[in-house]
Amino acid sequence: MAEPMYQTLLLFGAPGAGKGTQGKILGQIPGFFHLSCGEMFRSLDIHSELGQIFYEYSSRGELVPDDVTVKMWAENIRAQTILSLYKPHDDLLILDGIPRNVEQAKLMEKYIKVLGIVHLVCRDKEAMVKRLRRRALKENRVDDAKEEVIRNRWRVYEQDTEPVLNHYRSDLIHEVDAVGSPASVLQHVLEVVVPIQDTHFNNPIDGSETGPVKA
Ligand code: ADP
Repeated sequence: MAEPMYQTLLLFGAPGAGKGTQGKILGQIPGFFHLSCGEMFRSLDIHSELGQIFYEYSSRGELVPDDVTVKMWAENIRAQTILSLYKPHDDLLILDGIPRNVEQAKLMEKYIKVLGIVHLVCRDKEAMVKRLRRRALKENRVDDAKEEVIRNRWRVYEQDTEPVLNHYRSDLIHEVDAVGSPASVLQHVLEVVVPIQDTHFNNPIDGSETGPVKA
């Protein structure tokens, strides 16, 4: 049997833009399932082979190789469905931190159907760097502890991740201002996300907008 296509919303934005914060909140709402690729990596046993690979790359602010990343992601999401933590028919999948480059976007095409992309936009790079340093102190993260690693993460974002936006149809992309309190950013994120969730709800098979209209 062919693998099912997971109807998906992508949270997109530079390091520090607040994807994780927004994703976590959305994940609390029934009908959404949030999966953060960075969190998936961080939860690995550091002594495992994959954990060591993750440490090696993330401590330099670099991306883990694409094949390893997408394979791990696909196995993880499958496991979540087997455990019924994620129910593809009921839940809209919210991905944050993946795909992180065009190659990953291509590798993931056989698994996901992207219904929309929320692009959290922040043009003030220095504000983002400050946010990341504060978070590093609070959460004990090796990748953001050093300013030079943060700057490298930004370089990787601009070089490899931003082009992912061109991979998708422009009408799928919704820009949301990332500056402001989590609640006010959430308000704008919900304006985008709620209609997309309705689309999924009305047609969980292929996500097209022509599905039956709710009574
Ligand atoms: P951010 O703070 O930018 O959201 P993440 O928590 O998503 O950072 O990721 C932390 C680290 O995990 C990255 O620097 C990278 O090494 C690794 N990582 C996360 N997602 C991916 C991915 N999709 N592809 C490759 N590496 C990833």
